[in-house]
Amino acid sequence: MTTLTPPDHSRCQAERPNGYNAFTLGGRPAMVRCSNKPTVIATEAQPGPDGLIGSMSLCEECKAELLKDYGPVYCGFTEVQRSYLVTWEINVEADNPTMASQDVADAYFQPPIAAGGPDSACVFKVTDTKTGETTIIDLEVARGQAF
Ligand SMILES: [Zn+2]
Repeated sequence: MTTLTPPDHSRCQAERPNGYNAFTLGGRPAMVRCSNKPTVIATEAQPGPDGLIGSMSLCEECKAELLKDYGPVYCGFTEVQRSYLVTWEINVEADNPTMASQDVADAYFQPPIAAGGPDSACVFKVTDTKTGETTIIDLEVARGQAF
């Protein structure tokens, strides 16, 4: 069974010539993977000989190359999703960073998160507003420890 490589949102998946050819001195001609950040996911309009519809991430340069070589109807393009860091802040009074995190989790987060469930959003960055000292509290680690 053939499996397709999923689109890589962090690096263009096109292969480009490495700059060596029959007339360069030294080096061997080969294809190397493009190192640019992708901007689009190109998806084949028609299935290939294997019956599968392939898609890959491309940077603007490689997209232009694909359009030049295959024309505008070979692939459809969708924008690569951008990456965001979402931060949420609240002021709280507590005896220590772990208790501050637990109080906030208990009050505002769903029970599995407040319980420090594995792989839940239970890691808190707690900053002492007086000293500026920042502590990272992972409720999964703190769970079961006395604080
Ligand atoms: Zn590229």
